[in-house]
Amino acid sequence: MAEYRSTGILMGSELAGKVPPRERLLKRACAVIECVEEIPCNPCEEACPVGAISVGDPITNPPNLDFDKCTGCGACVGVCPGLAIFLLDLSGGSVRVTLPHELLPVPQAGDEVELLSRAGEVLGRGTVVRTRRAGTTSIVTVELPAEELLWDVRAIRRSS
Ligand code: SF4
Ligand code: SF4
Repeated sequence: MAEYRSTGILMGSELAGKVPPRERLLKRACAVIECVEEIPCNPCEEACPVGAISVGDPITNPPNLDFDKCTGCGACVGVCPGLAIFLLDLSGGSVRVTLPHELLPVPQAGDEVELLSRAGEVLGRGTVVRTRRAGTTSIVTVELPAEELLWDVRAIRRSS
């Protein structure tokens, strides 16, 4: 049995093939889709304007992402009911993750926030670069202080 089914937390080894290579991220932002279960769901596929995401038939197929087609537009991030899609970006010397966030108040550009792992552990602090809304979901881009955090930061918490 996959370990995440008992822990509820995806591990790096369970995301093999899902994470864009570092060389790709140096060019421009790219999505990472951390969705591995066979569930009847495909709004990510329908939201992508360039056809980079394929679920296909049956609809229970886990989504597959074509890293080269992805433009990093973020249209898929706010439509995923599982909050399972993120953008990673190493272009132009930046180290940025864009993530869905559903807690209020909405973080604003310039805010310092705590960086959380998939397990909710605090990994450090980062700075909000921008926030936009997609329905009830905020899509928040955060600058990280170190590249190694890019692979593990998947949530934020506002500092008190
Ligand atoms: S970020 Fe944009 S281009 Fe990339 S997979 Fe999502 S919707 Fe498609
Ligand atoms: S919308 Fe989210 S939960 Fe649904 S298939 Fe796409 S990535 Fe998975």
